[in-house]
Parts: sequence; structure tokens; C-alpha cells
Amino acid sequence: MTDANEAQAPRKMAIHTKILIGLLVGAVAGVTCNQLFGTEQWLINLIDGPVYFVGQMFLRLIFMVVIPLLFSALTLGVAELGDIRRLGRIGARTFAYTLIVTTISVAIGLALVNVVRPGDYLPEDTKQKLIASTETDRDKVLANAETAKKTKTVDKILQIIPNNPIGDMANAINPHPAYAGSGFIAVMFFAFIFGLGLAMSDPDTVAPTIAVLKGVYAAVMRIIDFAMGLAPYAVACLIFATTARLGFEVFKSLAAYVAVVLVALAIHQFGTYSVLVYFFAKMNPLTFFAKIREVMITAFSTSSSNVTLPTAMRVTEEKLGVPREITGFVLTLGSTANQNGTALYEGITVLFLAQVFNVDLTFGQQVTVLLMSILAGIGTAGVPGGSLPLVVLVLQSVGVPAEGIAIILGVDRILDMSRTVLNVTGDITAAAYVARAEGVELST
Ligand code: ASP
Repeated sequence: MTDANEAQAPRKMAIHTKILIGLLVGAVAGVTCNQLFGTEQWLINLIDGPVYFVGQMFLRLIFMVVIPLLFSALTLGVAELGDIRRLGRIGARTFAYTLIVTTISVAIGLALVNVVRPGDYLPEDTKQKLIASTETDRDKVLANAETAKKTKTVDKILQIIPNNPIGDMANAINPHPAYAGSGFIAVMFFAFIFGLGLAMSDPDTVAPTIAVLKGVYAAVMRIIDFAMGLAPYAVACLIFATTARLGFEVFKSLAAYVAVVLVALAIHQFGTYSVLVYFFAKMNPLTFFAKIREVMITAFSTSSSNVTLPTAMRVTEEKLGVPREITGFVLTLGSTANQNGTALYEGITVLFLAQVFNVDLTFGQQVTVLLMSILAGIGTAGVPGGSLPLVVLVLQSVGVPAEGIAIILGVDRILDMSRTVLNVTGDITAAAYVARAEGVELST
């Protein structure tokens, strides 16, 4: 794996520049087409046909290998940590870090949305138009949330322990409407326990299994390398589809909300993380951001922590010098369970929609939003739009009409792209902190 990566280092550099170019070309072409041709049929056909095809082909290629990657990386991470006490220490640190940093991120979001009150800016007819334009998506999101709501709390907790891990693997990315399990979390629990099982068994007996897992991991990384070759074109298509369909109008009318989310994300990304990196990883924040630039661009253009996982692992190992057993553990868990950007976004969105619907939330209800957003950050799948069903749950828990989700679906892509950058950066800061705490010398 290392050899392949080294051989490809120069091409990689070119690729992330290409992704940026793809992003720009897609956005400019999309906005231009939207302005010039609006809703002409050929444009719709183009978006729904070839443009959709290329974007989806890329995403599907990556999703195809997400489960084998997650399973092999986490199992190996746990198995290679070996010593149970070390594992407990790293696990406890990762957990404490996730809780504290996620709480900070949600608090930043809630403070800002309370000060700016973006919900008060939206004219009534715009709200109605937005609700009407996103009905199909809304129905899908509501159906998923309905299934989740029917499950009792005690069962929700129990479902973390999968009684059928294959079922959870099958439903992790595209859940069947009747599926009510906990998806990625259950798969990770299985991988974690399996890794523990390997670590505690006779090394000679389990050596072949570990070798197979290493092989799976290497092959998956290679497939992802190949898929990344498509990324610049796919990203251009994904952005083109959004901007050609919606143009600037949607952004304009929701500008205050979008701005609050983006500013809060930026404060956490460049403020909180800089402080954490400086004090806990003992690294210059500017060097840190320069080193992980490739990861941030990949997260931004794919809107998926899981798709970004391989790039995050490679960069964190090669450029920051975090050992593989720590990246395998912290980054893999983090790609689903440590989503600061998502938690921050959920808090703002719920309060924004409460403002739009004139629901006055008491302080106690805002605390509920805070707690539920933290949990949502832990429970959200690292896939595009993964947090939307959870937004619905939080909305319902404080009595804001869940249909309100329709208002924000139109602008969700850009916010999804941005929050995913934080989700992944947060995982890398966690890995850097844990590595330092374990006495590893990072390459600063
Ligand atoms: N797209 C996000 C991620 O993959 C999840 C979400 O907030 O929807 O990290």
C-alpha cells in the first residue's frame, strides 16, 4: 500500500488542484446555465441524465468500498493497539474529546443564531415557494424519521449492539424504509468487538485473519485511489446540478441562515481547532491546515466523511506522523461519531426553523436542542445529507413542524459540503491530540 501511495504522490497533488478546478467550472457553468436557460427542458434532461450519471458513478464507487474499509480499518486499529489498557486510554480520550469539542461547536452555533435571528428575515411568499419546491425530498426524509421515531429509546440504545451485523452493513448507506437499526454505529461496534477478540486471542491463531484484513484494507485503498481519478469530473457535475437547478435565488432568500451557519462553522474551524491544535497537538495551526488541505478539499467536494476517510487516513499518517493504529481507531470512529460541523449545523437549523414558524423556544428547550444536537453529531452517518433525518427528530422533540425541513433542503448541499470539512478536520485534530497524549512525536 505504501509503495502504491508513494508512486502516486505527484499525481495526487495534481488531483486535488483538479478537484478545485472542477468545483469552479461546475459552479460557474451551473449558475450561467440557470441564468440563461432557466427551466428549459434540454437543461433538465442534461442534469437528470449524463450529469447525474457521472456524479453518482463516483459516489457509488466510493460507497461500494465504505463498509469493507470501515470494518478492516477499525478492526485492525483495535487489534493492533493490542494492549487493552492502552486501548481503554485512547478510547476514553477520544470519547471525552468528542463530547467536549462537539459541545463547544453547538454552543457557538446556538449563540450566533440567537443573536442574528435569521428566521426573521424570510418573506412569507419565499417560505411558501421553498416548501413547494422540495416536496419529494421532504417526503423521503420524513418517512425515514418516522421509522426512527417509532423505535423505543431503550431499543435505540440496544441496537448499537447488532444482532445481525450483516443486516446493519446492508442498511448503513441506503436504509430500507422499514429498517430501524443504528447503521454505521452498529457496524463499528461489531468491528470494535471483533478487533478486541483478535487482540485477546493467541497471536499465531489469528495471524491469518489479520493478514486477510490487511489485504482487504490495501485493496480498498487502491480502489479508492482509482475512484479519486474521477473526482474532478464528478465534483463538477455534482455542483453543476445544484447550481443549474437552483441558481442564486435560493441562496439569496436564505442568505441570513446560510451566512450564520457558514460563519459559525468558520469560527469553529479556524478558531476552536487552531487553539486545540496549538495546545493539545503542540503544532502551529497554519502548518496543520496547510498539511491537511487535501483532506479539507476532498471533504468539501464530496460532502461525506466516509468518502473522505481514506484520504484523511493517508494524510494524517504521512504528513502528520500519526501512527496507523491510532488513525485506524480515531479517524474511523470519528468519521461517524465525531461530527462537530453537523452538530453545530443541527442546532442552528432547529432554532432557525423555530424562528421561521414563530415557535418561541424556552431556555430549557434550547438546552434540549443542544443535547440532541450533540447526540445527532454522534449518530449521523458520514454520507451526504446524513444528518437530515436527525434534524427532523430534533425539530419534533421541541415542537417545531418537521415539514420545515423543506425550507432548508434547497441550500443543504453547500452547507453539507462545508460542515463535512469540520467533521473531518475535527477527527484529525482528535487523532493528533490522542497521538501526542500517547507520546508520539508528530511531524510539525
Ligand atoms: N455529510 C456529512 C458528513 O458526511 C453528514 C451530514 O451532516 O449530513 O460528514
